[in-house]
Amino acid sequence: MALVSNKLPGNAAGDFFVDSSCIDCDACRQIAPESFRDSGGQSVVCRQPDTPEQVRRALMALIACPTASIGTTRRYDVKAAIDCFPEPIDANVYFCGFTSESSFGAWSYLIVRPPDLGGNVLVDSPRYNAHLVRRLAALGGVATMFLTHKDDIADHARFAARFACKRVMHAADGAAVLGIEHVIPGRTAVRLDDHLTAIPTPGHTRGHMVLLYHNKMLFTGDHLSWSPARGQLRASRNTCWYSWSEQTRSMRLLLDYDFEWVLPGHGRIHHTTRDQMRVLLQHCVARMAES
Ligand code: SF4
Repeated sequence: MALVSNKLPGNAAGDFFVDSSCIDCDACRQIAPESFRDSGGQSVVCRQPDTPEQVRRALMALIACPTASIGTTRRYDVKAAIDCFPEPIDANVYFCGFTSESSFGAWSYLIVRPPDLGGNVLVDSPRYNAHLVRRLAALGGVATMFLTHKDDIADHARFAARFACKRVMHAADGAAVLGIEHVIPGRTAVRLDDHLTAIPTPGHTRGHMVLLYHNKMLFTGDHLSWSPARGQLRASRNTCWYSWSEQTRSMRLLLDYDFEWVLPGHGRIHHTTRDQMRVLLQHCVARMAES
């Protein structure tokens, strides 16, 4: 719980505040950009929410925050904000909210599909929370849990136990030790069903994978994200734990695929045309190869 006594000095005066436990995961700034900003290594409330919509978005950020670093000095009813998660992104794809500190606030996503099309897919693990579990159950539960890499698995075991779902993860990120049901070996892409392809993308970690859905949505974990400031797709060399040359090679292989959306664990989401996404990816690969 956020403590007023630890309130960061840069917060705008008013009810909402961020305290010193903030880990700078960026979730609040994405969810409620009118109310939160980066103050150099941590977030602060830059402007107090005043419209009902701004309050709702600020409360959603409070719910999603992995470290409970956002607080209020008076009581708010957070039920409506809780019920906003999972939040629709596009058609049947949702952002789960409820990020986990153990995955540094990584974003997880839900693909909602009828059982005859393979059922729902949870991409990476949110924080295990009773409200979220109820909402997931109401949306049809979880048939498959796709884990992009070992850093963003959070509460995977609890979700797997609750929904009796099959988990998919790469062997090189320790899937066998974790008791994963479907272990992907090697570097060859694997079609999980008619619309889902698991693509090994070693680099950030040895066993990193991305998930392609419907040749449209690419769930990229910590492999690839969007930088609005630069207007570029980017990979992070600072957080490349395994091999930058491998990550560059993996990035180049993504040019073989079509997609319109990049949905990362960390960093910003991007949506554009397939053609424009390919151009952006080509530029990203070129910059990686030069660095
Ligand atoms: S969501 Fe929480 S931890 Fe993440 S930047 Fe905002 S206040 Fe900090």
